Amino acid sequence: MGKMEMITNTSPRKGVNNVQPTPPPLPAKAPEYGRKGIFMSKRSAVTRYSSASSTARDLWDSLFDGGYRADVTIKTDDGGIIYAHANVLGMASPVLRGMLKRAKGFGKKRSISIHGVHQDAVRVFIRFLYSSRYKYEEMKEFVVQLLVLSHAYAVSSLKRVCEQQLEHGLLNLENVVDIFQLSLLCNAPRLTLISHRMILSNFKAVSATEGWKSMRNSHPGLEKELLESVIEEENNQKEKIRKSKERKIYLELFEAMEALVHICRDGCRTIGPHDKDFNQNQTPCKYRACKGLELLVRHFAGCKLRVPGGCIHCKRMWQLLELHSRLCADSTSCRVPLCSNFKEKVKKQSKKDEIKWKILVKKILRTKRIGGSVSFIASSTSMSS
Ligand SMILES: [Zn+2]
Ligand SMILES: [Zn+2]
Ligand SMILES: [Zn+2]
Repeated sequence: MGKMEMITNTSPRKGVNNVQPTPPPLPAKAPEYGRKGIFMSKRSAVTRYSSASSTARDLWDSLFDGGYRADVTIKTDDGGIIYAHANVLGMASPVLRGMLKRAKGFGKKRSISIHGVHQDAVRVFIRFLYSSRYKYEEMKEFVVQLLVLSHAYAVSSLKRVCEQQLEHGLLNLENVVDIFQLSLLCNAPRLTLISHRMILSNFKAVSATEGWKSMRNSHPGLEKELLESVIEEENNQKEKIRKSKERKIYLELFEAMEALVHICRDGCRTIGPHDKDFNQNQTPCKYRACKGLELLVRHFAGCKLRVPGGCIHCKRMWQLLELHSRLCADSTSCRVPLCSNFKEKVKKQSKKDEIKWKILVKKILRTKRIGGSVSFIASSTSMSS
């Protein structure tokens, strides 16, 4: 990014330094995140600094605003000048300390330059070095520049504030591509992750922004990587949908299997074992698939085309019966029609059929792993292995 280079290239020149008086204590400690003071409402933030009021911080602010005995001039873009104190700057930023050491000046006065970002952003940056304070509106406007400055001048407390503010609302579709690139440059992995996620989930809108277009020009490789991750994400989503659809089908089959055993063993509503009376006014059946299966069984009993490959309903019934047989633990005591007939058929099946059925059985059982509640579960695991 052009801006970054401009800043880091700001080359301080060597100069004579005089011994300075004992430096004042550091500006008040870094702001406490999550406290009301930092994430205050926009309305109140316009008129107040976003920090709990404290005399010490007020003092540091007025030292900066008043420029009392300031000994550093900071030149910014568009001829802007900011007055500051070498002690404060040097204590708050090791990079600035180094620049001041090498800076030219007259007597005790020294001059350094911070270019590449808006002069107001530099002012907010320097104020933060004094009092750890900022106005929300200023943060909102200059968060990108402040992130760059905090990284370039190694002011980790400000960097954390910028990251937090971006994460909690200042990151948006317009700036997300810039922030993503910056987060890579500024070694802010959490921000990289968050902005990357935002790009992926809003790809269409983000790829139409100016930020994206300029990234395409300046970092085509990065664009390519992002496009690849978008495709990967889309594929992941498709795969997720496919899996969940598949799971639903297997779950339905599982439920049909449970209901089939239940109908043939206990009887339900209008169908029941031939040797058992059933109560027509019983409480609603707990098997969800029971009603549909009941209709199917009734159809199967009466259909004239009751052959495999005949009517689609009958075909379905044949499949369910065969599937049951393959899941059934004990055909000798089983009440489901044709259970043992199918068991015989299994012995003569082709290798191809065997594999096909085994896979199906395995998938159904994997979909709903509940042991022991239904009779056919018990030995079916050995079948599916
Ligand atoms: Zn039932
Ligand atoms: Zn039929
Ligand atoms: Zn059976």
